[in-house]
Amino acid sequence: MFRPDNIPPTVCEYELHIVFQGGQLLSDMRSRSGCLIASEQLQRTGWTELRRQFLGYWGDKPCYALEIDTVDQPDPLQYQKGSLYHILGRVDEQLFALAGRASQLLDWERDHRYCGRCGHPMTLDTRERAMRCEPCRVINYPRIAPCVIVLVTRGEELLLARNANFPQPMYSTLAGFIEAGETAEDTLRREVREEVGVEVANLRYFQSQSWPFPNQLMLGFFADYAGGEIVCDATEIADARWFHYSDLPMIPPASSISGQLIQHFIATLN
Ligand SMILES: [Zn+2]
Repeated sequence: MFRPDNIPPTVCEYELHIVFQGGQLLSDMRSRSGCLIASEQLQRTGWTELRRQFLGYWGDKPCYALEIDTVDQPDPLQYQKGSLYHILGRVDEQLFALAGRASQLLDWERDHRYCGRCGHPMTLDTRERAMRCEPCRVINYPRIAPCVIVLVTRGEELLLARNANFPQPMYSTLAGFIEAGETAEDTLRREVREEVGVEVANLRYFQSQSWPFPNQLMLGFFADYAGGEIVCDATEIADARWFHYSDLPMIPPASSISGQLIQHFIATLN
């Protein structure tokens, strides 16, 4: 349904827009297409456009990310404003990915208006997805932050942890950002050691998920327990334990890769 593209069509009568205001996604509560707002409707609103990024095609229709001014006041009876979290698991996966792409590209453009090397205003390239500084020739591309997320298992048990920042009593898989110079496998072993103090072996790549909070790419792995006792990193982990698959605590939903890792592991046991 969605086909990414970086170069917008020159002429098009019918466009779709994913609209953000102050970092919040706008959805039309009266429309089945929700966060996809058509050009005719958009023109009637009179909203002030701050930034626009071409995303690609939703079906055969060109689709744009749009950021509007915070002084505009969308009708609260028609438009709902919320974080991308609000639509995660509630809309089609491709639409969620598209909204995530929109949010990341708008943030990237906003955060690269000036060159980090010489301070000159940057310009948006028309041939590729890039911001350029003409005087010093710096080029900035949209930046993705790769992370490793891992389900560590021991026989029929899963090692799950409750993050110190989780608002709910939810237990999840372990995760961490890949640092400069590391491989994904290095990160995985380091994060597991730092967060819960155990060693792992037999790392198996599962799948990945774009996670636009704000710009992660989650690389999902399975790993086998290889030794050590659980010792939690007090700043990040409130609690970590082994759970038998038949007696799990509250876990992340299947819309997240963490939930998918857990479900996939249990399916392989049964
Ligand atoms: Zn520069």
